[in-house]
Amino acid sequence: MQKLIEVLRRAENGRVAVGHFNVADLVLLKAVFEAARDLNTPVLVGASEGEREFAGTRQLAALVKSLREEFDFPIFLNADHTHSLAKALEAVKAGFDSVVFDLSALPLEENARQTREAVETLKSINPDVLIEGEIGDIGSGSEIHEDTAGESRRLTTVPEARSFVEAARVDVFAPAVGNSHGMRKSMIEGHAKKRLDIDRIREIKTAVGLPLTLHGASGTADEDLRRAIGAGINIVHINTELRLAWRRGLESGLAAREDEVVPYKILPAAVTAVQQVVASRLKLFTNPGVSVNASRN
Ligand SMILES: [Zn+2]
Repeated sequence: MQKLIEVLRRAENGRVAVGHFNVADLVLLKAVFEAARDLNTPVLVGASEGEREFAGTRQLAALVKSLREEFDFPIFLNADHTHSLAKALEAVKAGFDSVVFDLSALPLEENARQTREAVETLKSINPDVLIEGEIGDIGSGSEIHEDTAGESRRLTTVPEARSFVEAARVDVFAPAVGNSHGMRKSMIEGHAKKRLDIDRIREIKTAVGLPLTLHGASGTADEDLRRAIGAGINIVHINTELRLAWRRGLESGLAAREDEVVPYKILPAAVTAVQQVVASRLKLFTNPGVSVNASRN
């Protein structure tokens, strides 16, 4: 079985990105896995502290491991936005393949110092675990926001990126380049898109020489995602688009069968809705050179 670092190196060489999709239940996990398997492309499943709290850290690790082994398929598990060493240790001990160690709320030097300590501690438990560091402000919740939210976020500068990566010794780096968690109402209605600073991505990539992650990519213009991947993004996080599809799919599953109480007759509508979003995004991430119409059919 290939390792996550090998998958990321191949993505870097091929100028493509690995899709990262958050899961909080079996509907989301099934949808992500089925979409990735249909397209035969490696995939990262993410679970934040809140998602792990709900689904169970060890239970999620066991589910993903069972899929990886039974189907001999490159599906990996990431501990998304982990804010303490204790929570990171819990995930690594459970068998997670990577950790987003997120102390981005701290001043940069303190963030780098504590992240470096975490890198050493976590790799002493599993030398293959990958640690991602994060600086800058990309907002907190993968939720629906009012249109006025987070309009003036400060972007990561090249010197900040370089000094953080040198000090923290992370494997993967997450900059703030116009991305943000969650989606505004206008994005859900379809009349607004997030835009990314492509030149900044290219400059940061050259400066740090590591796989780069784009968090909060839901609602980003396809064209910007393609160019961002070309400029050096290797992991793209999608969560809110999935949550939206999950809710709509669930509602349609319930509405279609008014007196139905059998979960496995209601929930497939939610799986299908989420799977369509994952498949569409994976096609874009793995073929960023292909035109929108061709890749999203
Ligand atoms: Zn994120």
